[in-house]
Amino acid sequence: MRIILPAVFLAMIQAQTPPAPPAAPDPVKTLVERLDLEKYKATIKGLTQFGDRRQGTDRNRAAVDWIEAQLKSYGCPTDRIKYVYDPPPAGGGRGRPNTGLAVGGGRPRGDKIPTGVNTDPMKQPDEKLRALNMQPTTPGPREMVYCTKVGTTHPEEMYIVGGHMDGHGWGEAANDDGSGTALVMELARVFNAPDVKTERTIRFALWNNEETGSQGARAYIAQRQDLQGKENPPGSGKYPEPKWLGMIQHDIMLFDHGMPLPDGTMRKEQRAEADVNIEFQSNSKMAAESMKLAWVFEAANEKYATDYPAAVGPHMTNTDSGPFIDIIPAISLRENERGVQIGNGWDPQWHQPTDVYATYNDKDFRLGLNAAQTTLGAVAGLTGATLNK
Ligand SMILES: [Zn+2]
Repeated sequence: MRIILPAVFLAMIQAQTPPAPPAAPDPVKTLVERLDLEKYKATIKGLTQFGDRRQGTDRNRAAVDWIEAQLKSYGCPTDRIKYVYDPPPAGGGRGRPNTGLAVGGGRPRGDKIPTGVNTDPMKQPDEKLRALNMQPTTPGPREMVYCTKVGTTHPEEMYIVGGHMDGHGWGEAANDDGSGTALVMELARVFNAPDVKTERTIRFALWNNEETGSQGARAYIAQRQDLQGKENPPGSGKYPEPKWLGMIQHDIMLFDHGMPLPDGTMRKEQRAEADVNIEFQSNSKMAAESMKLAWVFEAANEKYATDYPAAVGPHMTNTDSGPFIDIIPAISLRENERGVQIGNGWDPQWHQPTDVYATYNDKDFRLGLNAAQTTLGAVAGLTGATLNK
């Protein structure tokens, strides 16, 4: 009895303790659950009606108009950046020195499939799509669209969530980068629902001219960097360009079928180990801050992504976060690492006529949806998102 008594007393005390109140529901989880595979697919499909959306063409301009109309319909006020793109003359041989390393700095492994940009219309077997992509690009004025969710308590600070809406290669640019553009648009939809508030501002940017060297993102920086954090008009509480807290790019989100097989073919299905690749650039002024931001996204993936995990890598390159790497924390999310994996041929549709909506199945689209869950979860946390009752 002397041994059992304390246990009995403990049980009596516990019985008198009122039960803990149920934990308040996590508003971020509720927001993530508003993402939907069919809606994400429908937005990608909508973008593919403009073919490869090559910069400097009518189909690219029509896509910018269509994206802007969708963003407005989500209740996200839009604006445009205007700039001029005059490409340098072709040639000049600016090849990279052969270091044995991939672009961005990583070391390639395994079997490789050659990559490149298709420029031959006749490689597109779909005659309707070939005709849609026929108009050539011409130098001149360009536009890109963004929309903004203004923060309630810190409107003067913001995160930029981006994807590039232009493509090339005579397909539909369904994956590169319809998948990233649709992800950004779906996040704009969720964050701009009438019952959602964020303490800080979020800007949803659909860059143009990524495929020619991120001239859209560079124009944005050139025109707006010096406006950061300035209230205008003074005393209005309005900040046309909030201070940049981070830039998160989404560029090719769907296809992780593993590395090329020794016979130069690919697995037909998404690999079971597919992951979302979060990259920062270790060779940049903001490397430490960017790495920290990357791990915030990895943690958000663990908490909110339903199917696929995330991996962090240090070799981010060749995307619209690039022009930001020495200015602010900057990362990218992709289906694979850009340098050692996509550069080694892990995505055989990349810049090819086969990058069309019909190439992908739900396991592919679901990887993009998991990247959307990752970014939505991370950005909702970073900006203090809450739901009105
Ligand atoms: Zn891309």
